[in-house]
This record gives sequence, C-alpha cells and structure tokens, in this order.
Amino acid sequence: MVESSDLMIEANGLSKYYGPFIATEDVTFSVPKGEIAAFLGPNGAGKSTTMKLLTGFLTPSAGEARIGGFNMAEDRIKASEFIGYLPENGPLYNETTPEGLLKYIGQARGLAKSKLKERLEYVVKKCSLEDVWGKQIGKLSRGYRQRVGMAHALLHDPQVLILDEPTSGLDPNQTYQVRELIRELGKTKTILLSTHILSEVEAVCDRIILINRGRVVLDGTVEDMHEVSGNMEESFRQLTASGS
Ligand code: ADP
Repeated sequence: MVESSDLMIEANGLSKYYGPFIATEDVTFSVPKGEIAAFLGPNGAGKSTTMKLLTGFLTPSAGEARIGGFNMAEDRIKASEFIGYLPENGPLYNETTPEGLLKYIGQARGLAKSKLKERLEYVVKKCSLEDVWGKQIGKLSRGYRQRVGMAHALLHDPQVLILDEPTSGLDPNQTYQVRELIRELGKTKTILLSTHILSEVEAVCDRIILINRGRVVLDGTVEDMHEVSGNMEESFRQLTASGS
C-alpha cells in the first residue's frame, strides 16, 4: 500500500479557469516515489496547464498542488527544491550560452562551487551538450534547445521531474537518448512526463494519467489503457472522442 508520505506529486482538485473557459477542472491524481507516470491527452486537453499548476508557474482557481508533501501555495520554496521542470517550449533565454545559463542557475540555486562543477559535468554529459556549450541558445536547433532545457531541469539533482514533451522536436537518435536518460533517471526519481508518442509510454512508463477537455478520464497502468479498446491508439481515441 502507498503511504501518503510516499506521494511525491499530488494534484488535488486542480482547476484553472480563464474567465468562463475551463482549462482544467478538478484534476486529481498522485504519483508515488519512484514512479514514471505519463500524462497524456490531445492538444488543448490541459496537460501544460496542469504542469504549470503543479510547478507553481500558474496559480489554481481551485484545488492545491503538493510536491514532496509541501503545498505549492504555502511552502513554495520548499516544494520548488524538489522539482526539475522542463516547460513545453524549453528555455527562453536566447541571448546567453548553455554554459552561461546553467552556471547562473546553479549559482542562483545556491549550489556550492564544487557541487556546481560536478553537476555541470553531469548534465553536459547526460544531455550531450559538449558541442554547443559556448554557443548562443537562440541559435541552437530545437533538439539542442530541448536538451538545454533538460539540463536546466536536472541541474540541482531534484527528486521530482516534471517534463512537458521532453522528446518533442528531437530526431529518432536524440529521442532514443532522452528516453534512455528518462529510464535511467526513473530508477531514483519520480517523473511525470507528457508526450504524444504512445510507444514511448509503453517503453518507459509505469502508469498513465489521461486527460481530455481538462478532466482526468483514465488513471491506471499501461495494461488498463490497453483493455479499454485492445490497443493504445484505439483506447486513446475512444477515451478522448469529443464529448467524452
Ligand atoms: P495541452 O498542454 O494539453 O495541449 P494546455 O494546457 O496548453 O493544453 O491548454 C488547455 C486549454 O487552455 C487550451 O484550450 C488552451 O487554449 C487554453 N489556455 C491555455 N492558456 C490560456 C490562457 N492564458 N488564456 C486562455 N486560455 C488558455
């Protein structure tokens, strides 16, 4: 049985309204320590909004987000220490280099000099940034920008990773690399990742949370998803058919 103290990511009734428009409504799920959960749904379903609510980048209209047991609204600094977040469009710091950005972030997070050196070496290697270390981020390909974002998320060695489409824009080799990295990170960390690639889900995830029109429509295992309609694609289509 999962103890509540083992829950690293908790969405409790998270709702976000933009005027009369409902982006998410009563989104409730939790991810226990050590699990890799896929967050699926069609475009516009509310995945990025939920991830922004979980990471404190958006304030919910109702409900609460807890990370590592800390309420994001009340204990934001403590909750944030647990999180590495890859936003949907990667890093927005176009003028600087990966080296400049990651050193700055490490210092801002208060990493000691020796720890920062060690973590920089780790992320450069794991995210294959050697060739672009001194190049301007704004001039990098989408795949490299995505990997700079991944390095940003991993730099402080967080226990929880919230990754918004980590393989979007990557070629098959880069996708494979990032997928293997996620699999490796999943041995020690708790991960929530959104993706459109269903084969990726089967390859790396223990669990699926499927959202449609701002509401959770399935929370279960890969097998649970299969059982809805025999295969992943058909189950996805059935569960996210308009009006469901
Ligand atoms: P997903 O990540 O699943 O593609 P999003 O969370 O980005 O979906 O968006 C959910 C819905 O909320 C979409 O219909 C989107 O257009 C809407 N939305 C997102 N941000 C805003 C905003 N700032 N103002 C109004 N509507 C928004």
